[in-house]
Parts: sequence; C-alpha cells; structure tokens
Amino acid sequence: MLSNYLPYSTQSIDQEDIDAVIRVLQSGWLTTGPTVNHFEEAVAAFCETRYGIAVANGTAALHAAVHAAGIGHGDEVIVPTLSFVATANAVVYAGATPIFADVLPHTLLLDPVQVENKISSKTKAIIAMDYAGQPCNYNQLLDLCRKYRLLLIADACHSLGADYNRRKSGGLAHLTAFSFHPAKPITSGEGGMVLTDNEQYAVKIRTFRNHGITSDFRTRQFQKDWHYEMVELGYNLRLSDIHAALGLSQLSKIDRWTAERNNIAGLYTKAFAGDGAIQPLTCRPDVTHSYHLYVVRVPNRSKIFAAMRQENIGVNVHYLPIHLHPYYRERFGCKPGDCPVAEKAYENILSLPLFPGMRAEDINRVIDCLHEAIREHGNEESP
Ligand SMILES: *Cc1c(COP(=O)(O)O)cnc(C)c1O
Repeated sequence: MLSNYLPYSTQSIDQEDIDAVIRVLQSGWLTTGPTVNHFEEAVAAFCETRYGIAVANGTAALHAAVHAAGIGHGDEVIVPTLSFVATANAVVYAGATPIFADVLPHTLLLDPVQVENKISSKTKAIIAMDYAGQPCNYNQLLDLCRKYRLLLIADACHSLGADYNRRKSGGLAHLTAFSFHPAKPITSGEGGMVLTDNEQYAVKIRTFRNHGITSDFRTRQFQKDWHYEMVELGYNLRLSDIHAALGLSQLSKIDRWTAERNNIAGLYTKAFAGDGAIQPLTCRPDVTHSYHLYVVRVPNRSKIFAAMRQENIGVNVHYLPIHLHPYYRERFGCKPGDCPVAEKAYENILSLPLFPGMRAEDINRVIDCLHEAIREHGNEESP
C-alpha cells in the first residue's frame, strides 16, 4: 500500500489487544470457550440486552437472526435496498424472499412509509439497517411491527456505540446483528454477534451456530458425557476464543472511539458548511451517531471519486442498491426504478475516510482535496 494512502476505514490495534490475544494462545483453549462467553456478556451488558451470541461474522449473525425469527420458504422480509448485500442474502439463505424498500433522501435510512407499502400477507419481518451508524427510526418501525404482527431485525453492523432515544444500538429491535470486521466500529479480525432479550431466540441461535447440536463439546467434556443430539440443520458458525479476545479488548475503547468519530464528523460538517455542492447526510436529534461512515452527496461523483483516489484518498461508495445487482435482477426480477430514492443517491454518494486515530493533517487533507475536486469537477456535466 502507498505510504500516504488514507483508507475510508481501518482498525486500531494497541498493545493491550495484542496481549489479550497472546493470553488466549497460551491458555490451552483456542476455539469457542470462556473468552467467547466473556465477550458475549460484555457486549450484551454494553447494549443493555439479556443475551449475546457470538458467531463467525456479521453475515452469520444476520443468517442466525433470520433463522431464529422462524423465517423460511414462502415468507417475505422487507429489507432496505441501500445496504451491503449480506442484509438481503441472509433472507435468501433461509429460503425466503427479500422485498426491497426505498430509503429517506436525507439520512438514507429505511423509509417507514415505503416499508408499509410493501407489507403483504406473506411478510414476516423487517430488517432495519443503521446506515453509516445512525439508528433508524425504531419507534415508527416497531409501530408497524405491532400493527402487522411482524418481527424487527436490526442489521446494526454500522452502529455499535450509537444510541436512539438514550437506548443503545443492540437493544432496539427483537434481534440485532453486529459485525466485527476490521472496517467496523470494533474488530475481532472476523466476527459477529446476535443480541436479543428473548431466551428462545438465544437458545435457537446457540444450536444453529453449532451444527444444530443442542450441547457443545466443552459442556460435554465438563459433564464427562459423550452423547449429543442434532435436532435441526445448523452450521458451524462458531467464533474462536482468539477472535473473542481481540473483540473483548476492543470493546473497552468503544466510547472513546465513538466520541472521536463524532469529533472528526463535526470537523467535516463544519468545513463543508459553506460549500453548497457538498451535502453531508442529516443526523437526527434523537440519536447519537456512531459515524462508521461519513457520507456526503456531491455532483459528478465519478469524477470527484477519481480525483480523490488520484490523491491517494481512499474514498468509497456505500452502496450499489442491492436490487440492482445482477443476482437480484435475474433471480427476483428487480429492476431500475424499483427504489428511485436509493438509485438517485447511489449516483452521488461518497464515503470519506474516518477512523479513530486519524491525524488532524489527514482530516485537513481530505477537506482540501474535496474542495479542490469540487472546484475542478463540480460544475461539469456528468458523463
Ligand atoms: C459488514 C456488514 C455486513 C456483514 O458483516 P461481515 O462481518 O463482513 O460478514 C452486513 N451488513 C452490513 C450493513 C455491513 O456493513
């Protein structure tokens, strides 16, 4: 990688993290064990929920949540189209059909009015995704769930550390999925977790992550018992203690990092306030944003993107709307025009570098570079 390349996101690892991983390597237990338990308890306590079930990655967390919700063949689940493909793929894994709903233009969060329009007799659940780290309007979504007897699943892969009406992301829906990929608010290398207050869901997910077997190897070892039973088809979605040690160590920094991310976002917002061509997304007053991403809307985005990359600034685009991917067009008959707000947003969104430990000079470099790119390309017709 070029030495002055600024990624849009990157992990922060310190000596404490390294020591925590080494302790597990020396402990005699590497796979799912005591450190996974500690990690689960710590994340659940932080999010003020009863249960946390660690899994191999955020996609597995979504898959397990959809499974626990009892979703299967013939069911429909409403998902936002402006998300990472895993949000919809989790529904397809369960044999159900994702129904794409459009987003709100100023926050790019799921639009409850569009969601209600898509509810049918087959709808079983809604998946909300906290785009960029801003929690969705959960009160409105939960009202819909009560009215139509649906479950609410949160894809909170962006929003660990955020809150909504003074409640933590993780405890805002019936089931919540987190990712601990290195680009996310905290990392375990790879990893994910499902949070819930519902004991039955928790039990179901523990079984699902372990092949559908109702006890784990470690429990059997302690109980001096060889017998186990597989009661349903599950997968091996387990997280290792090595990964959990890193995640647990990282969790202790989440409040400091959320504050730092908000501070950087504030500097960006202030710097772009005088430039009408640069439109940051809106942050609602009822949330604390976790700023996994700082997204602006700009004219002639492709040229601006290229100009920033030319300067070694790792801007990115989150995301091509899911319904426009070839798989979803071909398999589910999705087409341009299905979700016009997300499609229009996709033409001009740009994610700027933002991560804890980002230096003031790098923040200024991004600001200057974007102003310069706008001066140069902001008035051109896009091709
Ligand atoms: C990262 C991400 C996922 C998937 O998480 P992995 O840990 O990479 O499997 C799912 N949904 C969203 C919105 C994400 O950003």
